[in-house]
Amino acid sequence: MTPKFDAAFRNFKVTALAGGVGGAKLLVGLDEVLQPGRLTAIVNTGDDFTHFGLHISPDLDSVCYALAGLADLVHGWGRKDESWQVLEELRRMGAPDWFALGDRDLAWHLERQRLLNEGKTLTEITAHFCEIFGIHSHVLPMCDEPAPTLIKTKEGAWLGFQDYFVRLKCQPEIAEIALLGNRAIAGSELVIQALQEADLIVIAPSNPWVSIDPILALEGVRDVLQQKLVVAVSPIIKGSALKGPAAKMFNDLGIKPSAQAVRQHYEGILDGFIFDNLDLEDAEKWQASAIITEPFQTIMTDDADKIALARAVISLGVRILQGR
Ligand code: GDP
Ligand code: CA
Repeated sequence: MTPKFDAAFRNFKVTALAGGVGGAKLLVGLDEVLQPGRLTAIVNTGDDFTHFGLHISPDLDSVCYALAGLADLVHGWGRKDESWQVLEELRRMGAPDWFALGDRDLAWHLERQRLLNEGKTLTEITAHFCEIFGIHSHVLPMCDEPAPTLIKTKEGAWLGFQDYFVRLKCQPEIAEIALLGNRAIAGSELVIQALQEADLIVIAPSNPWVSIDPILALEGVRDVLQQKLVVAVSPIIKGSALKGPAAKMFNDLGIKPSAQAVRQHYEGILDGFIFDNLDLEDAEKWQASAIITEPFQTIMTDDADKIALARAVISLGVRILQGR
């Protein structure tokens, strides 16, 4: 790296849009690579719901646990070193057990709910979590009000996202997705500010339809993105998602899933796009695009992969900026 490039790289202020598991992996890499405090994550809350009277925020927790080094990397959700006594007892009582919360995870849910009941916002409570668990990066829920993603099936029923995702295991075919509970919701002041102040905005390899689109649907977000440097990483590799329903959603909605389809999905806001090396051959057939498109190993199995991809993303951002 030239000294000029290196300095630009380290001092970059990055704001990343993310969902849960896929997004969290790249965030861990960015958190490692950037100077402490230089990363802000804006996290989808469209999956949030209430269970046993507790606010559940799956993507926010995946991101926070990952950044705190507390995530269960085997399951891909929840906490490592977890025990399940409460869930087992609930099962014995015939209580609903379709959404699994481990004992340690439950402790955080109880504390978060206590703070919500005191009138604290989700944004304030998330900052508190980051402080307790030593996270240097800033984590912002996309908004503080309820903004549920709703799924309309081909049979015509509207489902809450967790109903579709966990209870029905993504089996129903999707006809339509409604974001933000079909209401107009503005991005929080901190969210808009984090986007405006960023040198680079990263769209993590998260589900475009139900993890990233809710954030993009907030009033004010797209307008800022159009004026900023934005780089995305594809969550679709060789036409499939590594996990979850992203590829099936493209199919259900009549679009062949591919990295190119992801790039197209973000047309109008992207300056750069990173797809997986495994799609190199396919990429030769893609339509020409003004978006600077580069291959890299995007499958992140360990921290080294996360760091390497984070560096590749920032490096593409710096090069686009310096080429302008
Ligand atoms: P969720 O809310 O927990 O489902 O998580 P996200 O929306 O953040 O991530 C889901 C997406 O992450 C899926 O489409 C996966 O294909 C993608 N994903 C998971 N792990 C990886 C990875 O290591 N590399 C890439 N490129 N995508 C990944
Ligand atoms: Ca999610």
